[in-house]
Amino acid sequence: MPRVLIIEDEKKLLTGLQRGLEQQGYDASAAGTGEDGFYLATTRSFDAIILDLMLPRRDGLQVLRDLRARGFATPVLVLTARDTVDDKVQGLDAGADDYLVKPFAFAELLARLRALLRRNLPLRELVLKAADLEMDLLARRVNRDGNEIELSIREFELLEYLLRHVNATVTRDMIARDVWKEPGGVLTNVIDVYVKALRKKIERPELRQLLCTVRGVGYVLRDQ
Ligand code: CA
Repeated sequence: MPRVLIIEDEKKLLTGLQRGLEQQGYDASAAGTGEDGFYLATTRSFDAIILDLMLPRRDGLQVLRDLRARGFATPVLVLTARDTVDDKVQGLDAGADDYLVKPFAFAELLARLRALLRRNLPLRELVLKAADLEMDLLARRVNRDGNEIELSIREFELLEYLLRHVNATVTRDMIARDVWKEPGGVLTNVIDVYVKALRKKIERPELRQLLCTVRGVGYVLRDQ
């Protein structure tokens, strides 16, 4: 059952969308403010987010920017009453995947949502890549520049996470939560030790550095 988060402050629209989506077989969660929406989006897992732009307590564009800045790649369908080119450009820059201008037909929203969900099939992606580094999820193999790299299970999971967030900074908290599944429970130096070990295996002096430290924040795997 696809999990969808709706962030919308118009109560009638919010409950209408939630009910409508549930009737269509979605697991729909609802948030009425930008703050609540951001909190849910960062603490639970969703397949897509429907995001209104004009929201109290953190507007939609800011929610979107904050999510993308933290490496959340969940597809976002933006709802906006403001049908101006400027807003669309801003929204796309902030990381929106699609747009729907209010008022819209529910059938149109369903069609856009289905298209977004089809696009976002991370679990079915079998090969993840960053520059000359490749991870084959089915064969559980990693190679860089054609040379196979042996990784422990945890190193593999850590690298997979970094590859899924390629070019986005991931914090140690995100790694603790999503890789170790122990939010706040993992000493950050444990993560640092794993990153160091991973780096030793994937980096080569003659090749460009991929796994970079963002001082005081976390790490980023760069493919450009
Ligand atoms: Ca609104």
